[in-house]
Amino acid sequence: MQDYLKGLNEQQMAAAMHMKGPLMIVAGAGSGKTKVLTTRIAYLLANGVDAFNILALTFTNKAAAEMKERITKMLGNNEARNLYIGTFHSVFARILRGEAHRIGYPNSFTIYDGDDSRSVIKTVINELNLDDKHYKPNVVQSRISQAKNALVGPAEYAMDSAIQQEDMRSNRPAIAQIYQAYAARCFKNGAMDFDDLLLKMHDLLKNFPEVLHRFQHKFKYIMIDEYQDTNPVQYEITKLLAAANENICVVGDDAQSIYSFRGATIENILQFQKDYDDVKVIKLEQNYRSTKSILHVANEVIKNNKGQIPKDLWTENDGGDKIRLVRTMTDNEEGRFVADTIQEQKLRYHYYNRDFAILYRTNAQSRAFEESLRRMGIAYKIYGGLSFYQRKEIKDMIAYLRVTANTRDEEALKRIINYPVRGIGKTTIERAVIVANEQQITLWEVLNRAAEFGYKAGTLEAIQNFVTMIRYFQSMLADKNAYDVAVQVGKHTNLVKELFSDKTTEGLARYENVQELLNSIKEWTESPSNDDGEVGDKTLGVYLQQITLLTDADNEKEDADVVKLMTIHAAKGLEFPVVFVGGVEESIFPSGMSINTREELEEERRLFYVAVTRAKHKLWLSYANARYRFGNLVQNEPSRFLDEMPEEYIDKSYAGGGARNQGGMSNQGSAFERMHRGFGNDAAAAERMYGPPPSKKKETAKPTYLPVQPPASKVVEHKPSADFIPSDTSNLQ
Ligand code: ATP
Ligand code: MG
Repeated sequence: MQDYLKGLNEQQMAAAMHMKGPLMIVAGAGSGKTKVLTTRIAYLLANGVDAFNILALTFTNKAAAEMKERITKMLGNNEARNLYIGTFHSVFARILRGEAHRIGYPNSFTIYDGDDSRSVIKTVINELNLDDKHYKPNVVQSRISQAKNALVGPAEYAMDSAIQQEDMRSNRPAIAQIYQAYAARCFKNGAMDFDDLLLKMHDLLKNFPEVLHRFQHKFKYIMIDEYQDTNPVQYEITKLLAAANENICVVGDDAQSIYSFRGATIENILQFQKDYDDVKVIKLEQNYRSTKSILHVANEVIKNNKGQIPKDLWTENDGGDKIRLVRTMTDNEEGRFVADTIQEQKLRYHYYNRDFAILYRTNAQSRAFEESLRRMGIAYKIYGGLSFYQRKEIKDMIAYLRVTANTRDEEALKRIINYPVRGIGKTTIERAVIVANEQQITLWEVLNRAAEFGYKAGTLEAIQNFVTMIRYFQSMLADKNAYDVAVQVGKHTNLVKELFSDKTTEGLARYENVQELLNSIKEWTESPSNDDGEVGDKTLGVYLQQITLLTDADNEKEDADVVKLMTIHAAKGLEFPVVFVGGVEESIFPSGMSINTREELEEERRLFYVAVTRAKHKLWLSYANARYRFGNLVQNEPSRFLDEMPEEYIDKSYAGGGARNQGGMSNQGSAFERMHRGFGNDAAAAERMYGPPPSKKKETAKPTYLPVQPPASKVVEHKPSADFIPSDTSNLQ
């Protein structure tokens, strides 16, 4: 038997060695689903299947990269590099880059991230003379996204009476109009938002039988991880692709379905068996990840969900420590407790920072943890904060690159047309946009033909210089790689020089960030294969696609010794030796917005299940008696999920005796433990910490504690490499 199959249990082995026909693996957390998927790919390759014929869809690009690395190790060759493997979005973006011209987009189409798409939506709302206070761009955006993920295009959206009634009820009848205009604008700009990558892929396969046929024959084997979270459009695409060969293998856990708000439905799992004849179903029941205590708690809690495929996970792992419940007085104290405990665990058990994860329900909760970690000097990284690529200076530089790759990209063009300042004022730009709309041409074309539109001599010259510069960048596209183009862009736009001349701390940081961006482009162009498996193509277009589709988890460098902070959604599929889950309180977890129906509550419970099952060895669940939310001091009850956990696996000594115990604390335990226990649910103590609640204060008094925006994520790894700066900055100035 090949080495990589050894150690698998009987069911895992059967799944890994399944060669032909539809296969579904439904199994609980930590039972080796992802491992089996990886091993199966290795097995297929070892048994004559060509890597070019395998498509594997993962939850993050990082998971894809890890899979490739493992397969390479398993097989001892480089075949894994030829797999089509990545997220739905990255794989489809790659396919569309070869095919988009068929549906009227340039193959070098731009990918709009959430910010870009919101900004276009806002522009469209204003152009339609609607009030963007009422038609909030983010609300409209999520409505449009919902529609796209359900395969509802603008025309159908406008025609569907149920949808129209719903929009009438929410007093936003013009969403259909906005959707229509937004879609038209994106098309005109040669841009796709994230949802379009799915939707347009679907359109392509539906409308071009020859393309469908080609990819059906290319992807003879299809594998999908985290299948429970696929939405209707993803489902339809994979069904189309798999139709010819029916070699499709999906793995998932209905108990971990946590994206119904994005249209994912566990129906997909149930439907799978109806879609194909002779589906082989394999259950995995042994958990290899967690201790018995952790697993029992997870099993018991999820049993409270009615709509669940029954399964009982067991493990041979140790019993392990009990799950610790921690009650603190306030969220700040919760942060301190966690930071102190991390320090203590490191000293006592020789853990590294990277062994710890702090998980929470909402991003805003990270603030208290971050402050305490910083105070203690513990290196950490927030996933999902302001990421590197969302920083202004990075977005500016990228905008230049985007315009170079695709001049139809109006968002990017507007961003940089007068940055650094070159005398093309706001009114000039606004006028150009109006002309573009009137004449049904792109903004870029207006700039090219500026002489026809009566600009003043000085402005005209500025515009023409700008156009010449961008054309110069474009002239390099054919025979220069992404890095060479980027260096020229940095140099000729004066962007780097401008940042270099700002000697403030922030200015320096911005300068270093741009250098870091250039470093990373250099690294990328020099690496043998791209993250999405593409070999060799190091052009600017490929680079841009690749960075737009990075998820936070993908940004992590393997060797970074940092405590990881992230939402539970972002933690899906990951595992950590020690896990803290913060804010386990009513109205936070379950979220106050998700307790009105059984379905919503069950989704919150699945999220709780995901959180608990991330832990390998130790788990802390904490809740605060009081915290500031939206400017008010609120007191929350401990989460109902805590009541659902079996007593014998819980250590309540940090919680003052009981999850819902309102009384004093026990005096048991070490001094350390006593120091970090909560003070009980005492409003007077809360006031001592925070000052009086806002209602008791004079109108003008500021609360002593103000909720602050979490600072930008501390990107510990983003240090420019010393060897790059001296040689190349001179080049750039
Ligand atoms: P999740 O539902 O969280 O995605 P999963 O079912 O995908 O979990 P994996 O991440 O594949 O589970 O595996 C969990 C852990 O158990 C990993 O560390 C994996 O290496 C280990 N594992 C899985 N199967 C075995 C096995 N047969 N022997 C030893 N370790 C195993
Ligand atoms: Mg997994």
